[in-house]
Amino acid sequence: MAYKSDIEIAREAKKRPIQEIGEKLGIGSDDLLPYGHDKAKVSQSFIDSVQGNDNGKLILVTAINPTPAGEGKTTTTVGLGDGLNRIGKKAAICIREASLGPCFGMKGGAAGGGYAQVVPMEEMNLHFTGDFHAITSAHNLLSAMIDNHIYWGNECEIDLRRVVWRRVLDMNDRALRDIVTSLGGVANGFPRQAGFDITVASEVMACLCLALNLKDLQKRLGDIIVAYRRDRSPVYARDIKADGAMTVLLKDAMQPNLVQTLENNPAFVHGGPFANIAHGCNSVTATTTALKLADYVVTEAGFGADLGAEKFMNIKCRKAGIAPSVVVCVATVRAMKMNGGVAKADLGTENVEAVRKGCPNLGRHIENLKSFGVPVVVAINHFVTDTDAEIEAVKDFVKEHGSEAILSQHWEFGSKGSEALARRVAEIADADAANFAPIYGDDMPLMQKIETIAKRIYRADEVLADKKIRTQLQEWEAQGYGNLPICMAKTQYSFTTDPNRRGAPTGHSVPVREVRLAAGAGFVVVICGEIMTMPGLPRVPSAEMIMLNDSGQIEGLF
Ligand code: ADP
Ligand code: MG
Repeated sequence: MAYKSDIEIAREAKKRPIQEIGEKLGIGSDDLLPYGHDKAKVSQSFIDSVQGNDNGKLILVTAINPTPAGEGKTTTTVGLGDGLNRIGKKAAICIREASLGPCFGMKGGAAGGGYAQVVPMEEMNLHFTGDFHAITSAHNLLSAMIDNHIYWGNECEIDLRRVVWRRVLDMNDRALRDIVTSLGGVANGFPRQAGFDITVASEVMACLCLALNLKDLQKRLGDIIVAYRRDRSPVYARDIKADGAMTVLLKDAMQPNLVQTLENNPAFVHGGPFANIAHGCNSVTATTTALKLADYVVTEAGFGADLGAEKFMNIKCRKAGIAPSVVVCVATVRAMKMNGGVAKADLGTENVEAVRKGCPNLGRHIENLKSFGVPVVVAINHFVTDTDAEIEAVKDFVKEHGSEAILSQHWEFGSKGSEALARRVAEIADADAANFAPIYGDDMPLMQKIETIAKRIYRADEVLADKKIRTQLQEWEAQGYGNLPICMAKTQYSFTTDPNRRGAPTGHSVPVREVRLAAGAGFVVVICGEIMTMPGLPRVPSAEMIMLNDSGQIEGLF
């Protein structure tokens, strides 16, 4: 049987005008700021007006350590949201916006897949409502103001060798990673080594996604450290007087975007911070607004549960004062096989033994998630190549581990395929069995926070950090940053820092290569291994296949 591509399915969607989608959540058309007929921002004044509402139940979708293709977290988030609506619940979805980098590079789209998608998927994967443009502009305004400050006399005494604020672009472009700026003579300023990151890696993105409101956003932007003086004291964006204008550029981008699923259910798509050097989930504004409007809010955290869910709980939930009622851990038979040692090319062949061998990876994620005090259910995201015996093997394993696994076929059948999952998830959420708490307290020393994550989540024996790193952490504690949460940056493919060690390894150590203070976003980034903040394009980028057909439709966008 031939299956339609994501874009073919999306093109056939019977979209409703965005006002009708807003109505489902009680958002009047005056409070929707439409971008065309099928996208709208929700006005800040409306958001302010619903703050007194009770919160709905928050449902987090996360996953096991993924295969390079992704495990279908977004697809399952959308499928579950549609499933909940199908069984009569008032449910909304919250996911991230897409970056142009992976879109023209090699990852799939960010709108889900099959019959569990958010539309308009083309626009969502391209310019959408311009939020990333606004973030890019705000970031680069600060960059320009720093160099301009230096040019006109450098009153803040910035050490030219210690400017830590780079520039950003929403594109994969390895040529810009390390560059020299201000070449060409006296009128162009002082040459210095600089570089570009991708927009989603910008601290401005993380600030926007964690800010509670515009005032909080401006404070966070002002707190960003842009450079150091010769005496190593920090220079803040506030010292350069950039925070006000940056907030103005971000005023509209702060308002969440409303779109719809293929089944015309409401979906908020807002913000898209990197999941390694940032926390990797949609904006706090979108999630908290959705919670005020819907009875159930399904949201996704990037990467596997060891990275994405850990940061969702320890950073986003802690900072926003929200808590999940239930966590859905997505597992796929093919990722089980990969964790069981099967090569990517052989994933299509039945191999029950390998599925069993890979299951301990899932088992550990279940245990870890439970340690946050939340109930966990496993969703087996069904691929048409999965065999019954393989699915049973996963179900049996999960049962033996005191949890339950539900097969979900939303990719193939939409909400009809996710009904069982939706019923069970709603039941668990309604039982109010969660007793959520982050796994470390605010006042724990920074090094001990890192060790807590490494030992309790990665199950490592130790953290390796040289004296320079330990001293740096102590200095930040002395400066008042000791209460910040930790943002781990490590590979998503393994519990360890080695992407090739799959399954559920023990006895490893976590080497810390570098620590960075994101004082505006409000976390300490701990870098373990190689982390790319400006990706490159692959040998054959998706861009080569993307084009307009004779009818003016986009082809090749997944
Ligand atoms: P993640 O959010 O975990 O990165 P996505 O939901 O974006 O993963 O899915 C990644 C890709 O896998 C998408 O192109 C999607 O269409 C595809 N996909 C997801 N679930 C299935 C499935 N059950 N069968 C086939 N393809 C799927
Ligand atoms: Mg996703």
